[in-house]
Amino acid sequence: FERKKQELGIKLNKVQQQAVLETEGPLLLLACPGSGKTTTMIMRIGYLIEEKNVSPRRIKAITFSRASAADMKARFARFFPDIPAVDFSTIHSLAFTITRTYLDKLGKRYELIEGQGTHQFNKQSLLKRLYKDVLKDDCTDDELATLSTFISSLKNKLIPIEQWGTVTQPFPKAGEIAQKYEQHKTRQADFLYVDFDDMLVLAEKALRTDDELADRFRERYDYLLTDESQDTSLVQHMIVEHLVAYHGNLCVVADDDQSIYTWRGADPNYLLEFKKVYPDAKILKMEQNYRSSKDIVNASATFIKRNRDRYPKDMFTKNEKSRPIHLKQVSDPKQQLDYVIYELLNEQNLNEVAILFRNNASSTLYVSELHRRGIPFYMKDADDRFFSHWIIEDILNFMRLSFNVERKDIFTKIIMKMNLFVSRNMVTQFEKAQTSGNVFDAFIRTVTLKSRQVKKLQAYKKGYVIMPEMRPMRVIQLIRNDLGYEAALKSRAEKFGYRFDHMSDILDTLENIAMPLRTMVEFAERLKELEEAVQNAKFNPPENAVTLSTFHSAKGLEFERVFMIDLQKGIIPSEEDENDKATLEEARRLFYVGMTRAKQRLELLSYREEDGKKKEDSRFLNEVRGILTNAAPKVHAKKQVKSPPVKSGAIPINPKGIQNRKDLVNGVEVVHRVFGKGTILEVEGQRLVIQFNKEQKEFDIETILQYRLLELV
Ligand code: ATP
Ligand code: MG
Repeated sequence: FERKKQELGIKLNKVQQQAVLETEGPLLLLACPGSGKTTTMIMRIGYLIEEKNVSPRRIKAITFSRASAADMKARFARFFPDIPAVDFSTIHSLAFTITRTYLDKLGKRYELIEGQGTHQFNKQSLLKRLYKDVLKDDCTDDELATLSTFISSLKNKLIPIEQWGTVTQPFPKAGEIAQKYEQHKTRQADFLYVDFDDMLVLAEKALRTDDELADRFRERYDYLLTDESQDTSLVQHMIVEHLVAYHGNLCVVADDDQSIYTWRGADPNYLLEFKKVYPDAKILKMEQNYRSSKDIVNASATFIKRNRDRYPKDMFTKNEKSRPIHLKQVSDPKQQLDYVIYELLNEQNLNEVAILFRNNASSTLYVSELHRRGIPFYMKDADDRFFSHWIIEDILNFMRLSFNVERKDIFTKIIMKMNLFVSRNMVTQFEKAQTSGNVFDAFIRTVTLKSRQVKKLQAYKKGYVIMPEMRPMRVIQLIRNDLGYEAALKSRAEKFGYRFDHMSDILDTLENIAMPLRTMVEFAERLKELEEAVQNAKFNPPENAVTLSTFHSAKGLEFERVFMIDLQKGIIPSEEDENDKATLEEARRLFYVGMTRAKQRLELLSYREEDGKKKEDSRFLNEVRGILTNAAPKVHAKKQVKSPPVKSGAIPINPKGIQNRKDLVNGVEVVHRVFGKGTILEVEGQRLVIQFNKEQKEFDIETILQYRLLELV
């Protein structure tokens, strides 16, 4: 077996061998990125089948997305082309099988309301309706997504329904809507609606309460393996626990540093308590990275150590150095785009290149340019929703009205989005009234308005006079600023406690798409064209294509060359990520997942301004910059900066200044009394390194604390 694998170019190291050979009983493989977790898991399956004569049907390998199940299947086929298909599946498909059996047994009929759900009745429309019942307002796509995620996380954490209203709410009354949603699905005695998360909850309940059924599934599999287990939720862990209850042959593969789905209910702490659940478990650690060049491995390893809440690991590699990590700061997003496109045009093997971003919104501009240049691209979870986003629909409606300013039907769709504080009743009144001519005049005539509103409407009317002559990019700016659209979005965001950033990102993207175009018609056509291109990239990926992916979806994958784009403050970490230590650490893990995808070349890109507004680099980018400078050869060694000589008493001691060493934590932002704002890069022994705006400085910790020279931001 060993020799055979060597022929395939892989000689398993000691720990990997152990993980393959020790097939019986529970095993936790807690290991660094690129250390061969997935590879080892695949070898273990091959070993079970080839050497231990286990039937492939009695092995269950679980991953947490359909894409990674497919990836694993492909890797397995590469190593073991002769072995018939092993069952690589997602936890959801397993849960669905169990749930179906359970409901059949109970004699309950059911209907799926996600994915294949009927059009008349699906999860989205139900949630929208309940939202309106409770909050008396329309639910936007963003709100819908937030609500969905919230419900998902409640169920994944197995939080009892009675508590939904009292846990932390993403927006007022979200828990109440969630409870109504649940009640609605199960209000009939012999029939229920089932969404994706219900499958998990029901499967867990079935295995816990129905011994006969549980035994049936327990007897089906002799070996279970789960990859990417740091993203497993409590309910998913429980399902697995029930299934291995008799034999305990469970191999769990995970890296807590790559846990990036806690917002959706994943629970990596479960892994750290693995021994409590499985007292005879073996725990193996793998720290050698086979994927990436030395520079990438060293920088990533130092970077992730800035997180406090982690299982200690020291990633290293025996790989050679390749090119140094490339930090490139350009002037604006357009230049960033130009740079990436230029580099891609000179790349032979696009399959081995990925462009990674935090938000799907970033991808649209890249899609637009790749499409225009004829560069093939692939998007695993392409965001075709972008093109049906209600903001785009709004913008197009604003534009449509300019072709005929007498169209009442279009006007009534946007009048409430012009920051006029017009009520739904006024709109209905206008709709019912017999009017003709210019809609702005007609509206003023028909509805009782305040003089401020009338003034605004008259100004808007003038805006519509010049609109047809304008380039589409200017039109979008006019809609945003002069027609009150952006202000309306802002006040809506405030009302519901939402972030406005995301909305303005979409508008920025639209402006960028419109930039080279001359007419509004061209703009509308361009949007259609792009939507088709994105659909294509998802369903018929071309040969030799560059991959576009979010950091999240890139997990588990690897590429020779990786561009991480838009590494800005406010994007990664996002403003929300900065809320508390836990979310900030999750954002750092996400950044780390991105960095560790690269084999040879890693490029970290950022820009200085956007729309004339100054932009700051991501603090993570600054941390990496600091790490690289620190690691640089001695010629560039920093001068040891003595803290400015302060005699005790000469300067009044700052009562808010840090006095306690415990407050000096990597990544924390501080203000130095003399040097100003900076970020702590390193705390070691008596040495403290701080990254300031332009430079790094090293301090003596004792002095810093004695004179309270630092203050927390
Ligand atoms: P991630 O955490 O990103 O999912 P992973 O731990 O699953 O990473 P793999 O994808 O299994 O890592 O392996 C990373 C790379 O290292 C692959 O290209 C794999 O072929 C290679 N590799 C793994 N083990 C060895 C080995 N013993 N010798 C040579 N190459 C190896
Ligand atoms: Mg993997």
